[in-house]
Amino acid sequence: MKFEYAPAPESTAIVDIKPEYELFIDGKFVASKSGKKFETINPANEKVLSRVTQASAADVDRAVKAATEAYRKTWSKLSGAQRGKYLFRIARILQERAREFAVLESMDNGKPIRETRDTDIPLAAAHFFYHAGWADKLDYAGLGDNPKPHGVVGQIIPWNFPMLMLAWKVAPALATGNTVVLKPAETTPLTALLFAEVCQQADLPKGVVNILTGDGLTGAAIVNHPGINKIAFTGSTEVGKIIAKSVAGTKKALTLELGGKGANIIFEDAPIDETVEGIINGIYFNQGHVCCAGSRLLVQENIKDELLEKLKRRMSLIRVGDPLDKNTDLGAINSAAQLMKIREMAESGDAEGAERWSPQCNLPEKGFWFPPTFFTGVSQAHRIAREEIFGPVLSVITFRTPSEAIEKANNTPYGLSAGIWTDKGSRILWSAQQLKAGVIWANTFNKFDPASPFGGYKESGWGREGGRHGLAAYLKGDFS
Ligand code: ADP
Repeated sequence: MKFEYAPAPESTAIVDIKPEYELFIDGKFVASKSGKKFETINPANEKVLSRVTQASAADVDRAVKAATEAYRKTWSKLSGAQRGKYLFRIARILQERAREFAVLESMDNGKPIRETRDTDIPLAAAHFFYHAGWADKLDYAGLGDNPKPHGVVGQIIPWNFPMLMLAWKVAPALATGNTVVLKPAETTPLTALLFAEVCQQADLPKGVVNILTGDGLTGAAIVNHPGINKIAFTGSTEVGKIIAKSVAGTKKALTLELGGKGANIIFEDAPIDETVEGIINGIYFNQGHVCCAGSRLLVQENIKDELLEKLKRRMSLIRVGDPLDKNTDLGAINSAAQLMKIREMAESGDAEGAERWSPQCNLPEKGFWFPPTFFTGVSQAHRIAREEIFGPVLSVITFRTPSEAIEKANNTPYGLSAGIWTDKGSRILWSAQQLKAGVIWANTFNKFDPASPFGGYKESGWGREGGRHGLAAYLKGDFS
């Protein structure tokens, strides 16, 4: 007999979504001079949630002026301990309002409430707590005596972890004494706007954090504004390249956290049931909208059949559907455009001769959905082995020897993450030394901690976020 789950929807009563939002500049919500607005929708049902403002170049200028004034007159005058107090206050408010943030994030992004509640929002608060602790200890961070901030920083973030990426950007910038102009992604602006309210609630001095909603044009206006001293960007490699070109030859500092095609390497002696959980977490967490996803499964040939059987069984248990249901594992794809990209990539896998497998699942009619999927028979030359899909699609590749695994894992223009599954400590250390990736997990995957630096090599970007290394990116000087 098959037991069904009863529906367990999280209530949306806790969120108060306004029909329209303005821009957050100099501590207040203000109208754009352009007056242009665009809709943000719930990708799970395509309903319009709100209308937000498309910030123009004139609005960017206004925000940069506010951030410059705030830097000169208030923020740079405070001691580290005083800055830390504000960060602690923000961290505590995020904890207090965690459920509100989690529900809003699920509605605007499509990711399951289980993830926003247990991962995104607690980790966002943890980033503020961690950096609050650093604010008065920068002299002891090994980055020189009395290290100096850049001044005004421009920060552009993506839609896959809207609130968490905001925390990764804002917390270290403020802890090190910078002021901020931040742009959330156009499909997920709502938690950043709620964060603006948190800044007000925390009495953060006006102009220290400014939040501008808008699309790539707003992003480009931030990148090109002469009053900004540093740009921090997380997003696609394509846009990262454009930004690197715009910033080249200017005085602006730059950090880029871009795409990935992480190899999750399974050696024959891996603990197989744990490994299956790690593969699931590596690629189906957050609908696979994860730059460090383990999107290439490199499995030793002699255990492939056993592993794939177990993986299929486990994938059949993944519950796809309403992101606000507490039992949902895989939510909605963030946008129609992203769904098209995933479909196009999966079709290229079919066309190039790989074999597709997905469990039976009933996808809702409205909204944007893609079932958990893997491809076997994938060669290194296939597009699904080389290009980032940014969806719940895994490419399975086999290897015979450890050195073949390393060679295949490193054969990519990216270098963000990798996973190693084996019983042998010596093999973990040997593999980690050979792998060209910024983050390497052993017998686990997709684990994040504010104290642990995160970032990539090659086309996955420059610089690190988190930990002591992440502080360096917001301070002047060459710490390489
Ligand atoms: P994705 O392809 O995953 O949507 P993008 O790199 O396009 O990722 O988007 C990441 C962020 O970069 C978003 O906030 C987006 O608005 C912004 N963006 C897009 N184009 C540009 C640009 N030319 N300059 C600056 N920011 C941009």
